[in-house]
Amino acid sequence: MSAAPPRPGPPLWLLAELTYRCPLHCVFCYNPVDFAQQQDELRTEDWLRVLREGRALGAVQCGLSGGEPLLRDDLEVIVAEAARLGYYTNLLTSGVGLTAERAAALKAAGLDHVQLSFQDSTREMNDFLSHTKTFGLKSRVAAIIKDQGWPMVLNVVVHRLNIAHIDRIIAMAHAMGAEYLELANTQYYSWALLNRDQLLPTAAQLREAEAVTAAWRERLGDAMRIFFVAPDYHEGQAKKCVNGWGSMFLTVAPDGTALPCHTAKMLPGLAFPNVREQGLREIWFDSEGFNRYRGTGWMQEPCASCDQREQDLGGCRCQAFLLAQDPAATDPVCRKSPQHARVAEAVARAGAPVAQPLVFRAPENSRRLGAQGTAPA
Ligand code: SF4
Ligand code: SF4
Repeated sequence: MSAAPPRPGPPLWLLAELTYRCPLHCVFCYNPVDFAQQQDELRTEDWLRVLREGRALGAVQCGLSGGEPLLRDDLEVIVAEAARLGYYTNLLTSGVGLTAERAAALKAAGLDHVQLSFQDSTREMNDFLSHTKTFGLKSRVAAIIKDQGWPMVLNVVVHRLNIAHIDRIIAMAHAMGAEYLELANTQYYSWALLNRDQLLPTAAQLREAEAVTAAWRERLGDAMRIFFVAPDYHEGQAKKCVNGWGSMFLTVAPDGTALPCHTAKMLPGLAFPNVREQGLREIWFDSEGFNRYRGTGWMQEPCASCDQREQDLGGCRCQAFLLAQDPAATDPVCRKSPQHARVAEAVARAGAPVAQPLVFRAPENSRRLGAQGTAPA
């Protein structure tokens, strides 16, 4: 008998995914594999209403992401409204489109913070992984961000193809004057799952990367804070995904679908509401999509009787679906999961030669793969 989900507090984080359009083609992109079939985007006035409703609900942080949010020519209008409402605003960008003029306009609109992604510290790997010539542009954008006085977060997704460059990546971020560096190990959903055999690092590579990071932290102290987001595949432990389903994060996809996390739309049997049809308050507190996996009442064994269940809430529902084909299963990264062998086998294979080529995020690949969904492993 499952208990009613707990009444949540407000969503503190509102993530506005303004568009799935993006000029880059990252092999680990977290956008849906079928993004090319999802071209519908909310209008400016819809976003402004969503911002107002989110703030009235209690949201205090507003992330503006995509795709590439700078492809929306109403970004300044959206930022201005978010700032007027009192959000702390954060732009998550590849840098493409952030000219000095646009940066000045966003600063004037009240943007608080910019997170700039790099794919690597070398031009060759950065440009290869994104399938674009963007390394030079990103370097210029980093200077533009500093010129505007924004605190700068550099974000680098880490995987087998760049993990040996961690030392150079940290040195690059420090030289660019970043206040924060996020070394985010790849999460294996969407495009990253398609490329998992090429991207998953070995345990030895991870240990080395963590040691290099620790040495830099010691050297730099508070001059640059370095976050190393460890990969759950290698830890044998599930993570409290999005800090708990429907507990803190509210994502709005480009077409207005409201989600507890940006990948949850893949889960079968769940109807997620759309902000065009319902207000955020009703969506957050009352919708089936947000309530289904709140708390612990939905759990099956082994989670249901596990003494860790309040700490990790059974891990990630998308990962459970992708690896165990059951969104209510124990996250297979947990060594207590009956499907943990699938994760252990992938880790054991890491580093072995892979015959198939990388699949780049691209509209033609999206259209080809879209019918296959997210390709459960
Ligand atoms: S991960 Fe790369 S391709 Fe995907 S939205 Fe971000 S910059 Fe674009
Ligand atoms: S069995 Fe479930 S609750 Fe227990 S540690 Fe694993 S994921 Fe967490």
